[in-house]
Amino acid sequence: MTDLKSMLPEEIQTYLVQMGEKPFRAKQIFRWISSGETEIDNMTDLSVSLREKLKADSFVTKARIVSKLVSKIDGTVKYLFELADGEKIETVFMRYKYGNTVCVSTQAGCRMGCTFCASPLNGFRRNLTAGEILEQIMAAMRDTGEKVKGVVLMGIGEPLDNYQNVMQFLRLVHHPEGLNISHRHISLSTCGLVDKIDVLGDEKLQITLSVSLHAPNDDIRRATMPVAKKYPYETLIEGCRRYIQKTNRRISFEYALIAGVNDSDENAHQLGRTLSGMLCHVNLIPVNEVKERGYKKSTRQQVARFTEILENYKINTTVRRKLGGDVDASCGQLRLRKIKEPKVR
Ligand code: SAH
Repeated sequence: MTDLKSMLPEEIQTYLVQMGEKPFRAKQIFRWISSGETEIDNMTDLSVSLREKLKADSFVTKARIVSKLVSKIDGTVKYLFELADGEKIETVFMRYKYGNTVCVSTQAGCRMGCTFCASPLNGFRRNLTAGEILEQIMAAMRDTGEKVKGVVLMGIGEPLDNYQNVMQFLRLVHHPEGLNISHRHISLSTCGLVDKIDVLGDEKLQITLSVSLHAPNDDIRRATMPVAKKYPYETLIEGCRRYIQKTNRRISFEYALIAGVNDSDENAHQLGRTLSGMLCHVNLIPVNEVKERGYKKSTRQQVARFTEILENYKINTTVRRKLGGDVDASCGQLRLRKIKEPKVR
């Protein structure tokens, strides 16, 4: 079965022509899909016979809400969605002053194995299709009745480990006849697959690249992020420099502060020396304490101290404002809970 939601208008057109249909129908179908419609039967400006033909060979992927938690603090909505084959993924709808932003998953599970993250705890299941990534935004729009201005690829999974589908998603999501979301309002986060960062740099997209660095040196990074064994620290930093050179875009480094692991003054100095002079931004995040992981977040004082030291190196630094703290709105925690305790709610 062909997933129409993963296809660009011109691809739908080729598909229609192959089945002996009129090419101009493609635009109509793409518009229906972009409006959030998931039932081919409801595409009422297509003839009944075309609808039947489409249904026999294709579908429009749909995410079903398994559970939904709404933050009382800031209105953040966290969804656990079920996909057509029963896989479960998480999506978060966040309200910022400049517009609503959706955090999407790119894989069911993850194979990167970062020791502080909840996503890999149940292993890797499969890549999401471009349509399934797009559908997370549409399902959130249908449910909230609100528009979406920005997207962050920071949910479950490693986007660059699902490169082709993520690229297709980026083409779909900013299509003017589709959701028309500007690449400038899209951030893609990676744990640092350097060969893919190189390929991405060549695409010269206007998206923001976030790199989950989380360490000031190779030893600490290896201890928390297995990916560092394949791409050593220096290799990653060099890859980031190439990316900046190619795209002329600022990289955002994510750094989760974990008490006693990567948050000492010396760690801040080392990070400062490494990143000094680079076109970048550092986003400090007091680590979310995932029960299964046992890490503790840095104290407020140490977060402030870390920030101050980085700023002394003239590095643009922010401490991430936390949304949805009361709804487990991060890093695979809800999926983990639901898989383990299927009867919760
Ligand atoms: N695989 C990609 C996309 C995941 S994005 C990546 O690694 O970047 C999710 C972000 O949250 C990443 O920066 C990840 O390292 C971070 N993260 C995971 N677990 C966390 C935790 N317990 N506390 C704070 N940040 C965490």
